[in-house]
Amino acid sequence: MERVSFTGEPFSQELEQGVDPATRLPYGVSRYYSGLVADNGENPQSAANGTRRDPIAAQYVPTEAEHHVRPYEDADPIGDRRYMVVPRLVHHYHDRALLLVNDRCAVYCRHCFRRHFTGHGSGRITKPELEAVCRYLELTPQVREVLLSGGDPLMLPDRELFAVMDRLRLVRSDLLLRVCTRMPVVLPSRITDELVSGLAARGPAWMVIHANHPRELTDAFVAAAQRVLRCGIPVSNQTVLLRGVNDNADTLEALFSALVRIGVRPYYLFQGDLAAGTAHFRTTVDEGLEIMRILRSRLSGLALPIYALDLPDGGGKVPVESALLRREPDAYVFAGPDGREYRYPREKA
Ligand SMILES: *Cc1c(COP(=O)(O)O)cnc(C)c1O
Ligand code: SF4
Repeated sequence: MERVSFTGEPFSQELEQGVDPATRLPYGVSRYYSGLVADNGENPQSAANGTRRDPIAAQYVPTEAEHHVRPYEDADPIGDRRYMVVPRLVHHYHDRALLLVNDRCAVYCRHCFRRHFTGHGSGRITKPELEAVCRYLELTPQVREVLLSGGDPLMLPDRELFAVMDRLRLVRSDLLLRVCTRMPVVLPSRITDELVSGLAARGPAWMVIHANHPRELTDAFVAAAQRVLRCGIPVSNQTVLLRGVNDNADTLEALFSALVRIGVRPYYLFQGDLAAGTAHFRTTVDEGLEIMRILRSRLSGLALPIYALDLPDGGGKVPVESALLRREPDAYVFAGPDGREYRYPREKA
């Protein structure tokens, strides 16, 4: 694969962005990722008409279904805004905080739960914003870990990303930095030796990636993941359970067993969030539980992620299996970490 240099306006020739004429929705994809769409007659555009969709195309091609917003869907489904302690820093959990480094992604996932933030013009973190974040971290030693997220932090050119990390290190040399990125999956050429050695030099760091389907695990992906691992940065993966993409045990068994073979730990399998216009992607919680039951009988503990749900109304992340209290006719009722009850809709399968 061709390497591009990431100075100046980064990797624009690698990316395609536009407005889909059929749905009038904006989209963005890397040429690499759209190249993974199978050329076997499955129609990437067909949404709700019963035709099977390609699992790669389904993740980036807009569909009419996104215009259908359910009353309980939300622009901020996991309550980021409530926990934003200073602009761009979400401090929700005791010892870790999430930094929205920029709002850009190489691929704009149709199922993204941060759709209110990604690609909406807030751009890169500014110097004054970063200073305010650093002041907060200086005064809040209970934060041991900062998640570099967004958007995708690796959409920044190396020197800008490294400058952010260096600034954080200056106030808190003890921080663990978690780089949350989809780049190894959607633009593996971004994972250069210069990038990974620069990340490792600014460690301790972990990388958390986002793969949803075994077809994403190409040779280029494997090489990118191994480049990261060889530098001493552990890699974990988060998968979103997506109807029509990976909502069956066979697909997820193939995905998780392949990941663990290359040294990438399956970390979370997420139940779909209540992001606006994503109902067509959600499975029921009972479908997820049944898939997990099968996976547990087939997969090594190393390959088995936690099936988790980010509770609505900022309730926080919980493991579905232990937090589910009961089923009501229209809702699954969960125990939140705060002891309160949270309701997640029971949608028609
Ligand atoms: C998910 C999340 C984290 C990290 O949670 P882990 O369970 O450690 O992966 C941190 N902050 C916010 C705001 C999150 O949404
Ligand atoms: S890469 Fe992550 S932040 Fe970006 S659109 Fe996809 S899910 Fe959202």
